[in-house]
Amino acid sequence: MDASLHITGTLIWYYFICHREVWLMARQINPDEDNPNVDLGRFIQEQTYPREKKEISLGHIKLDIVHKGKDGLVIGEVKKSSKFEASARMQLAYYLAELEKAGLTAKGELRFPKEKRRETVELTDELRAKLDAAVRDILRIVYLDGPPPPVRVRWCKNCAYAEFCWS
Ligand code: SF4
Repeated sequence: MDASLHITGTLIWYYFICHREVWLMARQINPDEDNPNVDLGRFIQEQTYPREKKEISLGHIKLDIVHKGKDGLVIGEVKKSSKFEASARMQLAYYLAELEKAGLTAKGELRFPKEKRRETVELTDELRAKLDAAVRDILRIVYLDGPPPPVRVRWCKNCAYAEFCWS
């Protein structure tokens, strides 16, 4: 196992969907490329509207700036559906925490225009504690000798590991 593993927003996203996938992704185990299912990158692209021009870069992460005014910086994403909203919220919270470490205070916003809804994500102590616990648990998972057993979740039908898990 690579000792230099870095937790990423993507791993946070997976963590709130499927722990087995966290292990497989962190170990860089490539799914069957012939698998017609879509995986996260393509899925997110399909679920996210094209980016507006205003972006902020944080390492390799690019975040949309939704608003920059007297109330401060708001970063966020526009989603086509709220199907995986809990994961999207925690991923955005992770980015807010990373910005905070870099000395930038920001709020997050998830927008669901089809549902005419938006949700503000603020980095509260409760959310920070939840993120810390998730990061610790992700590290526990990725250092397991083998992947956690598969558990059927809504994501399975989109997941490139489906054949590996379920055939
Ligand atoms: S197919 Fe389902 S159980 Fe297997 S890694 Fe993907 S989401 Fe997890």
